[in-house]
Amino acid sequence: MSKNVLITGASRGLGYEMAAEALRRGHSVIACVRDLEAPGNLAELCLEYGERIAIARLDVTDEASIAALADRLKQEGRTLGAIVNNAAILMARDTQIEELDMDEVIESFDVNVYGPMRVVKHFLPLLTEENAALINISSEAGSLTGAYPGDYPYAISKTALNMFTLQLHSYLKGRGVLVLSIHPGWMFTDMGGKQAPTDPRDSAHGILELIERRIETDSQWQFVDYRGQSMLI
Ligand code: NDP
Repeated sequence: MSKNVLITGASRGLGYEMAAEALRRGHSVIACVRDLEAPGNLAELCLEYGERIAIARLDVTDEASIAALADRLKQEGRTLGAIVNNAAILMARDTQIEELDMDEVIESFDVNVYGPMRVVKHFLPLLTEENAALINISSEAGSLTGAYPGDYPYAISKTALNMFTLQLHSYLKGRGVLVLSIHPGWMFTDMGGKQAPTDPRDSAHGILELIERRIETDSQWQFVDYRGQSMLI
C-alpha cells in the first residue's frame, strides 16, 4: 500500500536515493532539504513523478521551519505513512579527545540527535497511516559494542539516537508503528567517501523493504542494518 514518506536531508546521498526508491515503488514523498535553491537531483524526480513528490524546506536545527511544515501539511489534510530521520553530519573525524572542539560536538548533537527529536515532536501527530514506520538512520559507529577512540561527536550522537528509538518504540507500543534505528552500511556518499563498499541505492532499497515490512525484523534493540540483520546496541 502506498504511503506518504517524509525524508530529511533528501538533497543528496542516502536521503536522495531513498526519495527516488520510494517514488519508484509508488509512494509519495515529501523530500526535505535545507536549501530550496540547492535541491540536487530532486528536480529531475519532480519532472518524472510530478505531484507524487513535494520538495519542502526543512533544517533540522530550526524548530520553526519544522513546525511550519508540519502545520502546512496538517492544513492540507496530509497524513504520513513513514518519517525517515536521515539528515546528519560527521564532524571532527578521527580527532582525539585532547583536540576536540566542543562547538563541533554541540553542533553534531544539534543535527544528529535534537534534529530527529524536533522532527518527531512535530510530525508524529501526522503519522496516522496504517502500518506506519518511524525510521532513525543510525550507524554502527553508535554501537556500544564497537566503541573505538575517534569520531566522538558522531558516534556518541548515534548512540543517543538509538536510545531515542527505543524510547519511541516503547511510547508507540500498541499503535502499530514500526520504530527502528537502521545502519545503512558504509556507503559511497559525500559522508562515506569513495572507498566505501556499499551503493547507497542498495541501502535505500533495503530500507524501503523494511518500511514496507517485506523483511521480518526481530531486534531486541530495534537496531538493524539495511538488510534487516540485528545490530548490537
Ligand atoms: P551526506 O553527508 O551525503 O548527506 C547528508 C544530508 O543531510 C544532506 O542532504 C544534507 O543537506 C543533510 N543535512 C545536513 N545537515 C542538515 C540540517 N541541519 N538540516 C537538514 N538537513 C541536513 O550523508 P549520507 O547520505 O552518507 O548519510 C545519510 C545518513 O546515513 C546519515 O544519518 C548518516 O549518519 C548515516 N550513515 C552514513 C554512512 C555512510 O557511510 N555514508 C554510514 C552509517 C550511517 P545539504 O545538502 O543541505 O548539506
